[in-house]
Amino acid sequence: MTSTLITGANKGLGFETARRLVAAGHTVYLGSRDPERGRRAAEELGARPLAIDITDDASVAAAAKTVEAGGGLDVLVNNAGIEGRGAGNSVTVAADTTADTMRGLFETNVFGLVRTTHAFLPLLRRSAAPVVVNVSSGLASLTAMSDAGSPGHFYPGIAYPASKTAVNMITVQYAKAFPDIRINAVEPGFTATDLNGNTGVQTVEQGAEIIVRMARVGRDGPTGGYFDAQGPIPW
Ligand code: NAP
Repeated sequence: MTSTLITGANKGLGFETARRLVAAGHTVYLGSRDPERGRRAAEELGARPLAIDITDDASVAAAAKTVEAGGGLDVLVNNAGIEGRGAGNSVTVAADTTADTMRGLFETNVFGLVRTTHAFLPLLRRSAAPVVVNVSSGLASLTAMSDAGSPGHFYPGIAYPASKTAVNMITVQYAKAFPDIRINAVEPGFTATDLNGNTGVQTVEQGAEIIVRMARVGRDGPTGGYFDAQGPIPW
């Protein structure tokens, strides 16, 4: 039985990914920083609730202990993330971006992802077919963001795209360091969730498609790549 942890799975893309992977037969640890919301979501899906706040060393260490005691981990989906929108669902524009804005986004999207990956690496390395999916964004792509014809080009914020570009580099470097683990970054597409005040144009079913596909890659699957539902995309 494949054992899978999805962080930030009490709602949005993580919840939909959990639903699909439970249906595919995985034993799913449904990660949630709020234990009660996690418990309710896990109960709804037939998943195992796991309290995990990715910004907290003790919380992540305790979660890793629980999963180890439960038999180990094959698949880690680093999904938990924030965009840090302000009042009225507004994106913090360049002129208003401070060091604290950047630190806030990086604390979750970058440092949290590394904290979680580092804590679960020993378990993944014991798996016969380990997989990591890093939920990135199309806004991480330097190629797309510097192309005036690309849909993401209009996006005015600095912190969120920069944090996801860091996730892409982290993916490439981990993939080279651990060739036995399939490690990929994915772009779900602009999806209606709380992250963007439900302004996204895709459903969570559409958005979770590439996350689920990359969570299910076999030992011969790609690694060190960046994909959306149509295939590889430019960094
Ligand atoms: P969402 O509905 O807001 O869900 C985000 C999840 O992350 C929630 O479960 C949230 O928990 C959790 N989370 C936030 N900070 C956390 C922390 N410190 N520890 C643990 N969990 C934490 O947003 P979503 O759209 O599904 O986002 C999922 C991922 O997709 C994110 O990485 C996002 O950047 C990425 N993404 C989204 C889109 C899009 O258009 N929606 C596009 C590209 C990429 P709470 O419920 O406790 O806040």
